[in-house]
Amino acid sequence: MQRIGVLALQGDVSEHIAALERAMRGQGEVVEIRKPGQMEQCQGLVLPGGESTAIFRQLERSGLTEELKAAAISGKPILATCAGLVLVSKEIDGIEGDSRVKPLGLMDIKISRNAFGPQRESFEADLEIVGMERPYRAVFIRAPAISEVGSGVQVLAKVGDAVVAARQKNLLALAFHPELTDDSRVHQIFLKMLED
Ligand code: GLN
Repeated sequence: MQRIGVLALQGDVSEHIAALERAMRGQGEVVEIRKPGQMEQCQGLVLPGGESTAIFRQLERSGLTEELKAAAISGKPILATCAGLVLVSKEIDGIEGDSRVKPLGLMDIKISRNAFGPQRESFEADLEIVGMERPYRAVFIRAPAISEVGSGVQVLAKVGDAVVAARQKNLLALAFHPELTDDSRVHQIFLKMLED
């Protein structure tokens, strides 16, 4: 039985748990990750959206930073959404030497926070996602975007020129919130990564 852990320090944790449970149809278990030692008992991890500065702070406080890095390096599938995408990036546009935000550098991507501007707090868009036959309606909330990708990164979807979904080996990163819609096709990509 698969066990997936959702990092439960801040953000939309319960929505992710509900969406994963829907997508797994009883074929696995979803648990909250709050303390060291819990990640290693999971076959996959989800880093939810929320406020990335708060999540960074809580990660350090809870002593989970190194475990998360080790999990990513070991090849464990990780779904990083929105603030989670900020977390796994290598560099954040416009932030140099800001000690509050230290991206973990797990993916070879540079990101911009709040990339769609304050006047577009939240919006929905029909995305053409690589591997999907029909458009996927995605919800964006104060969303970041990926501004640069390294050679090992596969771009999966864009809004205009902004990359909003990408994959690098075991990491799947999204600027939007797949947990807020009923369409479970993005979760199915992640569940497939766990099977492989
Ligand atoms: N803008 C937020 C941040 O940078 C992310 C927003 C979200 O996760 N919905 O932390």
